[in-house]
Amino acid sequence: MTLSHWQAAHRHRTATYDVVVVGGGIVGCSAAYWLSQIASDLHVAIVDAGTLGGGASGRNAGMVLQGTDASYLTDVDRYGPRTARRLWAFTRANRDLIETELAAGAVDWRSPGSLTVAGSADEDARLQRSVPRMRAAGAPVAYLSPRETRRRLGARGFHGSLYVTCGGVVNPLRLVRHIAQRSGADLRTQHHVEALRRTSGGPLVLDTPVRRLHARRVVLAVGPWLPELMPAGAAYVRPVRGQMLVTEPAAEQVLPLPAYSHRGGFYVRQLADGRVLAGGGRHEHAEAEETAVDATTAAVQNTVEHYLHTHFPWTHGLSVERRWSGTMGFSPDGRPVVGPVPGLDGSFFATGFTGHGMGYGFRMGRLLAELTTGSERPNGYDLFTAERFEAEPVRR
Ligand SMILES: Cc1cc2nc3c(=O)[nH]c(=O)nc-3n(C[C@H](O)[C@H](O)[C@H](O)COP(=O)(O)OP(=O)(O)OC[C@H]3O[C@@H](n4cnc5c(N)ncnc54)[C@H](O)[C@@H]3O)c2cc1C
Repeated sequence: MTLSHWQAAHRHRTATYDVVVVGGGIVGCSAAYWLSQIASDLHVAIVDAGTLGGGASGRNAGMVLQGTDASYLTDVDRYGPRTARRLWAFTRANRDLIETELAAGAVDWRSPGSLTVAGSADEDARLQRSVPRMRAAGAPVAYLSPRETRRRLGARGFHGSLYVTCGGVVNPLRLVRHIAQRSGADLRTQHHVEALRRTSGGPLVLDTPVRRLHARRVVLAVGPWLPELMPAGAAYVRPVRGQMLVTEPAAEQVLPLPAYSHRGGFYVRQLADGRVLAGGGRHEHAEAEETAVDATTAAVQNTVEHYLHTHFPWTHGLSVERRWSGTMGFSPDGRPVVGPVPGLDGSFFATGFTGHGMGYGFRMGRLLAELTTGSERPNGYDLFTAERFEAEPVRR
């Protein structure tokens, strides 16, 4: 792209900050919020290439769940019992902080609990086996029989489920905007950071087509786009597409709480106005969905609709009002990745929320703010540090 004389002159006016947070999604806005709580004298900006919540954070189902994208037993197998327990506690704290720090009405926060539903007998057995371990980890969880599961959801064809009493739901876009506004940070949207560099002895320089920004430190919360600004980030994150849809309002409220099923392959919730949100289906089209292209496909959308009509027959006559997609950042091992930005002392990144960023984001913002203000190893850092990939080469 060329720049005119006038544009170049405008662009070279600078604005100077203590911290520039790049990325106005749930993670970046939460980092700015916690910076304002921890060090209120810092001059902070949130900078986004598009709009606040224009990425996955404003395109998701708004489910604030605990644990990772996988079942608790899978986490125990993958990471060991101690890490599985601590991941659960971290995401529980995320949910509790949303409830205690933010205005529920401003973000449509509700906490009716959530269901993890088994789509097969195997999954059912695994869910049942996970109950004692989850309770030992402090999770408020109960197993519901197939009959009780189907009754609660007005559903058919499911096996049993786990009812977690602290699961919650929000309007994700309102959440992001509320947190950003509460942070008091300068909000610079439509500022695509094209280059980030250190000047010798001087501040960090962030070049955007609108204006040049100077900062002492940066937080990179740019989801799957991290490698554009930090090439080493390619080892930690890859783009994966998620698709969903919303129906016209149903006449009745049938689904009282959000549900995940088929090992997290599908998710569904009913909004207060009766509309039904459903998404997932990626596992049946995995290769095609390894992309950053923002588009829906008939294949995935048909899979989601088929799921909805099979298990929730009362949705059958409802027409679909809107379909959309979003780009998520998946990490190599399913856990978010946090670390220092190479070559930029005191600057940090967080990426790879693997389809579960609402479950981590607000608490992760606090972790990033603690790191940026000088805490060396704040609580939780060891769960997510990129150092874990140094011991063992990254496997994809
Ligand atoms: C369809 C769908 C459903 C989902 N459902 C759920 C759910 O119910 N519960 C849940 O926990 N998770 C869900 N997720 C996942 C969740 O949305 C993400 O994990 C989370 O939003 C990631 O947040 P983030 O802040 O890291 O990234 P993002 O929200 O992607 O934000 C990154 C921001 O960085 C900006 N950016 C990128 N590069 C630059 C640059 N160079 N300069 C300036 N700005 C830049 C982008 O414009 C973007 O706004 C879902 C995702 C999708 C797509």
